[in-house]
Amino acid sequence: MAPRSVVFDVDSTLAGIEGIDWIAARRPAAVAERIAALTEAAMAGERTLEEVYGPRLAAVAPTRAEIDELGRAYLAAIAPGALHCVAALRAAGCRSVIVSGGLRPALLPLAAALGIPSADVHGVGITFGPAGEYLDFDRQSPLAQQVGKATLVAGLALPHPLVAVGDGSTDLVIRTAGTADGFIAFTGFARRGAVVHGADQVVDSFDALTALLLPSP
Ligand SMILES: [Mg+2]
Repeated sequence: MAPRSVVFDVDSTLAGIEGIDWIAARRPAAVAERIAALTEAAMAGERTLEEVYGPRLAAVAPTRAEIDELGRAYLAAIAPGALHCVAALRAAGCRSVIVSGGLRPALLPLAAALGIPSADVHGVGITFGPAGEYLDFDRQSPLAQQVGKATLVAGLALPHPLVAVGDGSTDLVIRTAGTADGFIAFTGFARRGAVVHGADQVVDSFDALTALLLPSP
């Protein structure tokens, strides 16, 4: 049965980059390597997201200008076939929602390109000082926590059947918590054993995802 809602991850799913790693790559190599290792450990389920979220951001301290640039980088790295997939879902009456542990302002250009309204874009808030310097992230956001995507999605009261699509352990949680009726692991950019193992289905491209979600009659 075709889903009525699809919850999409962004980093390494709708876009072929990890936002925090993208910013960290602009820092000294030692910082970038440490951040990338923390990201990988969290997405592989070896460390919880709350363990790594604050330390990662404090270490990279992204400026407002860098978050704007990251927004353009997400757009440039959009997954092949993603535009068609979301458009086809919309034509079939299925609502697409973005639920990301990424920083929300950076997600908005990508969402706009996909035709997903900003009200359906859920990410972590960030605050800047008067000169655009990093101050803090939204510490109340469930999306900065390991099981937060499930909590947030449950609160959205989206129509079912509801399918979640992503590459990380924080995406799989939406399924294991019982909030999603199905979880599809997206391995087009990153393949994580524990995530694939827990998935109902696995796809390596958006064309395959479209065919899976909207089979031809
Ligand atoms: Mg991801």
